[in-house]
Amino acid sequence: MLWPSFSWISIPIVLCALTFGSSVDLTVASRSFDASPPVIHVLGTVQDGGSPHIGCDRICCRNLFLRPALDRQVVSLGLVDGESQSSFLFEATPDLPAQWNQLQKLTGGEISIPSGIFLTHAHMGHYSGLMHLGREAMGAQGVPVYAMPRMTQFLKENGPWSQLVELSNVVLMPLANEEAVHISSQLQVVPIEVPHRDEFSETVGYRIVGPNRSVLFIPDINKWDSWNRDLAAELRQVDRAYLDATFYDAAEVGYRDMSEIPHPFMVETMDCLQNLPEKERSKVHFIHMNHTNPCLDESSAAYREVRERGYHIAKFGDSFTL
Ligand SMILES: [Zn+2]
Ligand SMILES: [Zn+2]
Repeated sequence: MLWPSFSWISIPIVLCALTFGSSVDLTVASRSFDASPPVIHVLGTVQDGGSPHIGCDRICCRNLFLRPALDRQVVSLGLVDGESQSSFLFEATPDLPAQWNQLQKLTGGEISIPSGIFLTHAHMGHYSGLMHLGREAMGAQGVPVYAMPRMTQFLKENGPWSQLVELSNVVLMPLANEEAVHISSQLQVVPIEVPHRDEFSETVGYRIVGPNRSVLFIPDINKWDSWNRDLAAELRQVDRAYLDATFYDAAEVGYRDMSEIPHPFMVETMDCLQNLPEKERSKVHFIHMNHTNPCLDESSAAYREVRERGYHIAKFGDSFTL
């Protein structure tokens, strides 16, 4: 399914009560749109439940309740494209207000709302931020939300999301597996289905392809061997890959039955790719870390281990030109 060009950018946007309350100053320098290549920005790196995490009185969260860290935002990417004068969010997280505000700053405030939001699936960290677009908050009009068929149906048929559709706060833009959405002549977004706990929707990752470079974004997936694709081959096709880093290893989850929380451990992903040349391994930027993941702390032994093995941990505020 090809979308010819961005006619919906001209959809009039009505912002009601545009107040972000205690919105966080994310200290990102504003910059204006220009004709430079599209850029990916990391707007969040944490798993759905955020950090600090509700009910957690362990060392990972205790101090964060006293002194919240501005860089602990739920997983999201921003995409800013000068040629089409557009900007996009990947995921609508519970931290949407701050991430939206940051994306605005990255476009020099020239676009007051994103030109669209791409969703991966219906787990709380990935779509629940849509609530901020409704009449109790922004009362936005016509924000394009890109979603796969089951995800679209889920939003249409279940309140409160169905109200966003009925009131045209959002406009659902249907996606199909592996069919590119053409954002401009030099930028496309391709959804790729991945296996996951799909209670309410299917799950996709995205390949974001720019004029010079491309990025793979898979924040949630079951173990790599349950995917019908080969991770190393997928990695070869891109220049950077933001991959599921929910848990570091089995010890972190107390050796729980992983059928309840199936994710590849970071150590498994690293083992799986360890025979690749350093250039390939260095493309991996781990993202979507649970509050317990030691790699959220740059001074941890696990963080050092990841870097020593040639991989990276995605950092809030990172950018990558496509
Ligand atoms: Zn998630
Ligand atoms: Zn915690």
